[in-house]
Amino acid sequence: MSENFTTTQSGAPVASDAHSLTSGPDGITALHDRYLVEKLASFNRERVPERNPHAKGGGAFGEFTVTEDVSKYTRAAVFQPGATAETLLRFSSVAGEQGSPDTWRDVRGFALRFYTTEGNYDIVGNNTPVFFLRDAMKFPDFIHSQKRLNGSALRDADMQWDFWTLSPESAHQVTYVMGDRGLPTSWREMNGYGSHTYQWINAEGERFWVQYHFKSRQGVHNMGNEEAERLAGSDADYYRRDLYENIEAGNFPTWDVFVQIMPYEDAKTYRFNPFDMTKVWPHADYPLVKVGHFTLNRNPQNFFAEIEQAAFSPSNLVPGVDISPDKMLMARVFSYPDAQRNRIGTNYNQLPVNQPHAAHVTTYQHEGNMQYSFNGSEARVYAPNSYGGPAADPVRGAEGGWETDGAMIRAAQTLRSEDSDFGQAGTLYRDVFDADAKDRFHDNLLGQCNSITRDEIRERFFQYWTNVDENLGRILRDGFAAGAQGTTDGEADLAAKV
Ligand code: NDP
Repeated sequence: MSENFTTTQSGAPVASDAHSLTSGPDGITALHDRYLVEKLASFNRERVPERNPHAKGGGAFGEFTVTEDVSKYTRAAVFQPGATAETLLRFSSVAGEQGSPDTWRDVRGFALRFYTTEGNYDIVGNNTPVFFLRDAMKFPDFIHSQKRLNGSALRDADMQWDFWTLSPESAHQVTYVMGDRGLPTSWREMNGYGSHTYQWINAEGERFWVQYHFKSRQGVHNMGNEEAERLAGSDADYYRRDLYENIEAGNFPTWDVFVQIMPYEDAKTYRFNPFDMTKVWPHADYPLVKVGHFTLNRNPQNFFAEIEQAAFSPSNLVPGVDISPDKMLMARVFSYPDAQRNRIGTNYNQLPVNQPHAAHVTTYQHEGNMQYSFNGSEARVYAPNSYGGPAADPVRGAEGGWETDGAMIRAAQTLRSEDSDFGQAGTLYRDVFDADAKDRFHDNLLGQCNSITRDEIRERFFQYWTNVDENLGRILRDGFAAGAQGTTDGEADLAAKV
């Protein structure tokens, strides 16, 4: 008898991995074949709902090291000089589903976790420093416009450009994504950005506004539409494979961690609204301050358990860091953990990949499906109690905060002297894209333009890009009139065939 035998989930040895229990060799299958029933029922439940946006991804573990002294800005233990922390980074695309090709043009998710001594700290960023929207009220509509049509279940260029051109705040992000950085050569060769404005608080309680930048030591490299289209057909998992194989081969990717730091009072008068997620803070105003670096050096042993069930959330904060009055961020603090409760279950934080590494995890929250950790039999699970249970510590748990004007209204964010939906998009196009990048950008936009089928949307497309830059608008209008087809990465081709 071998000691290496299969069992049921309750640990009992089983008689066969190959044969169902039947009435004679050719007869009916018995419902009381408990192993077959368990096997099929378990198989039916192997999938949890995929993330709605950011469904397709991959990730790895690594280590973060602080090399500089930023202690005058934050008291977070994870950012103190010489500190190290285990990290987890999940990359993803936004619009496509689980099996979608990695090389469709898209924003890439860059979700970073630090397992700190004070609890998990997550920065759920992207490979772009801005976003399509500045108010979460529009977020479900935006994602619907990037997904599929109701009837045909096909993606649709009209739908995408309809939403974008009716939402002018999207122009900066759309410029970024339709430019070279919309098709990275790999996840390793792209930068990450926190994108939101966050708050840092030092030991004296002094507050600062910060933006995170994660710069790839592998450099920023991108591919063209033709290469992306070819790879989408030949290797849908191109980025996932690249990350996994490089880490297996010991070629560990590294990102340097920087922050831009804005003194608290500056935010009240800065020329751009610093809490608007569609804007950057120009480097000339707030230069990058180095913090340290992190390296990914360990692949997951089990993709589902450690990457699919990794539940990142911007609500995972630690003392010394906090959120800001960025309307997208305030809503994500609710919606991310809510999505994880729906997707994985109430007690998702008890799974190994989500368990904090902090020595001290004490909470009175309990029960719910799949509870694994529990308080002892004599513990009272309410606060306050007179049984010596833990109590909140207002000093240890001190939070950030900001002044508000107190009026509850629904309104657009306050505009500052240089705020406009198209200004920074125009700067990116005119001042950052070089001549070749501009050519590729025109070619790509002409490909997109040809994938739009409704004249009204195409007209708004021309106006949108004219608002970004008049010359750009003219180039696109003239190019289309002259029959220029442009190129696409294949995804827009598919959409055009709807
Ligand atoms: P800078 O000249 O100081 O910075 C321009 C930045 O643009 C670079 O540092 C680089 O960011 C990024 N960049 C370079 N090539 C591309 C490209 N093909 N597509 C997208 N981004 C690229 O100017 P400002 O800080 O005044 O910003 C000007 C514009 O640059 C902004 O309107 C914004 O669109 C873009 N940008 C600004 C960033 C910021 O945080 N200030 C960050 C990224 C882009 P990086 O070094 O991070 O790779």
